[in-house]
Amino acid sequence: MDCIFCEIAARTSEAEIVFENEKYIAFLDINPVNYGHTLVMSKKHFDNFLTVPAQDLEELTKLTQYLSGAIKRALKADGFNVISNNGTSAGQSVFHFHYHIIPRYENDFHIQPRTIEYNSTEIETYRNRIMESITKYEELLNG
Ligand code: AMP
Ligand code: ZN
Repeated sequence: MDCIFCEIAARTSEAEIVFENEKYIAFLDINPVNYGHTLVMSKKHFDNFLTVPAQDLEELTKLTQYLSGAIKRALKADGFNVISNNGTSAGQSVFHFHYHIIPRYENDFHIQPRTIEYNSTEIETYRNRIMESITKYEELLNG
């Protein structure tokens, strides 16, 4: 087994586990953005957001909502981020799908993403490219 998160799920690697049931597990990130930064995942290995089966994704997302509330209350956070990084370019470093729950406090959001601007026609071009891809995919699905 060469997936560190599979090892944590199998209890062959250590982690500070905050929640566990038959299918899912949540534990503290060892390099937290803030104390209490938690990772939530299926014990079954899926590489990323796109490869998690719908039922598992629904259960995992509901669990992430539940744990976000618990973490917010426990740590008296003002807010929290729920994020998933998908692909190396998006910052994914462990290729076993997981949600991050990051507790947030007033004035502590330092990682403002860089934003860019559309010119007058570009925004429509991007909308069309995405919509065409959705249409093609739906045509494939519906025959
Ligand atoms: P990502 O970059 O979205 O794939 O997130 C992977 C996260 O896993 C990083 O924030 C790491 O700090 C964290 N991480 C890596 N190894 C471990 C581990 N053994 N226990 C807990 N967290 C880990
Ligand atoms: Zn894994």
